[in-house]
Order: sequence, then structure tokens, then C-alpha cells
Amino acid sequence: MPVSYCSGCKRTFSSTSAFDLHRVGNFAHNQRRCLVSQEMSARGMMRNEKGQWTLPPTEEVAPWYVSLEKVVVEI
Ligand SMILES: [Zn+2]
Repeated sequence: MPVSYCSGCKRTFSSTSAFDLHRVGNFAHNQRRCLVSQEMSARGMMRNEKGQWTLPPTEEVAPWYVSLEKVVVEI
């Protein structure tokens, strides 16, 4: 698994996809920036045991993960 390091916010990411997700803003207007931790958490991103930010868990990559909506439905 490749690790992506961001020199902007000094965080590491478990994949380039996770890295891409934390960069927001418009290229054309030079408004690219990094999300803050709270914003990444709000998007479902999580930190693994190595402290790297990862993509939100999905059923595809993490079948054990049950979304909050599903828990509510099952109750
Ligand atoms: Zn960053």
C-alpha cells in the first residue's frame, strides 16, 4: 500500500485516493487547501493504527463495517 505524505499539512495518507480526498478547492483560482481533521472526519475518513488517514470504510473494502443508517434500520 503506497503512503502519501502531504507537505502542506504534514499528514500521511494510506493511499493516493485518501490524499486526493483531503485536498479541496478550485485549481483555477488557486484555492486548493487541505481539510482540517474535523472536516476529514465529517467525510468519514479515519486514521489507521499507523496514524495515516484512510478513506471512509465501505462495504466493498470493509464488509464488517455497518453504516449508522443500517444500524437504525435494523433496530
Ligand atoms: Zn494536506
